[in-house]
This record gives sequence, C-alpha cells and structure tokens, in this order.
Amino acid sequence: MNWRVRALCRGDDPEMFFPIGNTTRGPGLKQTEAAKAVCGRCPVVRQCLDWAMESPVEGIWGGTTESERRAARRRLVRESLTDTAHV
Ligand code: SF4
Repeated sequence: MNWRVRALCRGDDPEMFFPIGNTTRGPGLKQTEAAKAVCGRCPVVRQCLDWAMESPVEGIWGGTTESERRAARRRLVRESLTDTAHV
C-alpha cells in the first residue's frame, strides 16, 4: 500500500475521517464534508477508494463514506448479475 505515503490526509486529525453519528445531517455531515474536501484534493484518491472498496473499513476513504461504499458494492453486484443474465 505504498500509495499511503502520498496521502493528503497524512498529518491531519484522523478523527475527521471517522465521523460519529449521522453523516447526512448536523455535525456528522459537516465533518464528512470536511473530510471529503481533503479527499477531493488528494493525489491518491483512486487508489484509496479501490482499497476501501475491497476492505471492510469504517470511516471516510477515497472520498466516500462507509454507507456509500456499501451501496456501490451492491450496485456492482447487481450490475454483474444483470450482465450475467444477458449472456
Ligand atoms: S483519498 Fe482521502 S482518505 Fe484516502 S488517502 Fe486521500 S485524503 Fe486520505
């Protein structure tokens, strides 16, 4: 995982990337937006997201929340099943 040495979040407060509570409103949303803003400028966001999609990690990685990654995984499974059905 050598992409981590180029992570923009190195040196940031790690708690910012682990919002407590609801990430869709209130303080959790503000924290999530702040973390995503860092990810949005990060040179290794793609590598980080790829890793997070394959890892059962909590928090914000690759500019996504845990629930967003879960939803993306479900979408990928659905798409792959749909593709298989049309073969
Ligand atoms: S994408 Fe976000 S969480 Fe991942 S390394 Fe970059 S700043 Fe850190």
